[in-house]
Amino acid sequence: MTDLTKFTAAELAEKIAAREVSSVEVTQAHLDRIGQVDDFVHAFLHVDAEGALAAAKAVDEAPERASALAGVPLALKDVLTTKDMPTTVGSKTLEGWIPPYDATVTRRLREAGVPILGKTNMDEFAMGSSTENSAYGPTHNPWDHARIPGGSGGGSAASLAAFEAPLAIGTDTGGSIRQPGAVTGTVGVKPTYGGVSRYGLVAFSSSLDQAGPCARTVLDAALLHEVIAGYDPLDSTSIDAPVPPVVAAAREGLHGDLKGVKVGVVREFSGDGYQAGVQRSFEAAVDQLRALGAEVVEVSCPHFVYALPAYYLIAPSECSSNLARFDAMRYGLRVADDGTHSAEEVMSLTREAGFGPEVKRRIMLGTYALSSGYYDAYYGSAQKVRTLITRDFDAAFERVDVLVSPTTPTTAFKIGERVDDPMAMYLADLCTIPANLAGNAAMSVPSGLSDEDGLPVGLQIMAPALADDRLYRVGAAYEVARGDFLDRLPELKGVSA
Ligand code: GLN
Repeated sequence: MTDLTKFTAAELAEKIAAREVSSVEVTQAHLDRIGQVDDFVHAFLHVDAEGALAAAKAVDEAPERASALAGVPLALKDVLTTKDMPTTVGSKTLEGWIPPYDATVTRRLREAGVPILGKTNMDEFAMGSSTENSAYGPTHNPWDHARIPGGSGGGSAASLAAFEAPLAIGTDTGGSIRQPGAVTGTVGVKPTYGGVSRYGLVAFSSSLDQAGPCARTVLDAALLHEVIAGYDPLDSTSIDAPVPPVVAAAREGLHGDLKGVKVGVVREFSGDGYQAGVQRSFEAAVDQLRALGAEVVEVSCPHFVYALPAYYLIAPSECSSNLARFDAMRYGLRVADDGTHSAEEVMSLTREAGFGPEVKRRIMLGTYALSSGYYDAYYGSAQKVRTLITRDFDAAFERVDVLVSPTTPTTAFKIGERVDDPMAMYLADLCTIPANLAGNAAMSVPSGLSDEDGLPVGLQIMAPALADDRLYRVGAAYEVARGDFLDRLPELKGVSA
């Protein structure tokens, strides 16, 4: 039988609906692939073969399709709660914790008949750009085992690139869906803030966190987007408005040109610090957008250069508050509970033992930025920068429909290369952070392989809030023009894709 891991999610969904293959066969094929290659890739923290096959069987036996993706299995980032599987958030603090409830995203996936293969590796509490901050060891990039798969959602992106899953879920606070997508040659979308429920998403920085779809094609991402998006009364920042028509937009892009679409190239995201191979790949992508009929203009967003420092005040500030709940008293790790320590000592020894160095750094940064006397100078200023960035976007979107830039300044770096240099690590998100600060929608779509090192490069497309459909139209049209490149994936540990 043809290898079922080779198909797109859209193709698999059709085959399952036509009863050409069963969901059980499709799910088993992916579980087999995980068994073959995941020792090498380490995309998963937990695999739930039994649960996934039971969900697949239910789809096969159901008289009607539960959704457009019924029966197509998926890998879930370990930051979303699952009542039948552990949720560790990549941290020792929550090792072995099985949440009492499903995240809304998890629930919608189950209701849509999407079997969940397991939980994917991530930087601890989603803080990082390489998955090296996971307490459970790094994930490896399927394109080069010695390199990082991006972060924090490196496991989700790597599972797609390694053909272990046709679909995955990520979360993006400053770039954690898009940057892993870029460096693994996969598609990742950060929906408009409030577009996908945060209920059951273990909080890092609540005003920025957003769950979204990861896939190998733009259409697959759109199909998944429609399954997970939509108003949720359980999330106070959820938007009570119709989900943008992303599937229709992707189909329009696949079959049409980009005549009448105005594309703005962000002037600030080029030059020093951008690899020549990334720059050339980006310029080639812009040429292709032009060839598809788009009108391309250069746009200046002068405050985008302050996005990174503003983010590294706002995100740690919110994290210092959010992570206060891991106090050894409610749930999760508790150490030194031997009757000889005070409650304060148990709390502090538990937090000392449970959190890794990057999480501690962020908690300290945030606590400092929020402390009285520094609040206005740091947190207050960062919030003002946030407003200026939103105004830059507003001004740009009066002139253009979408903005484009490279997703990240470099291709995948080597494991270990940036672990001792937090600033170098933070720079991976230079181009992705503005969309988080403004709450806009943004996508990374592969722009092929760098002519410098043969590694994947990402094209970032940004759209106004609630105009997520524009990303899909432009992304899908571009994807057709770009052509395939995943067939150049090297063999994994002697197992070919
Ligand atoms: N890499 C960024 C950080 O370390 C973004 C993380 C994310 O989006 N979760 O904070």
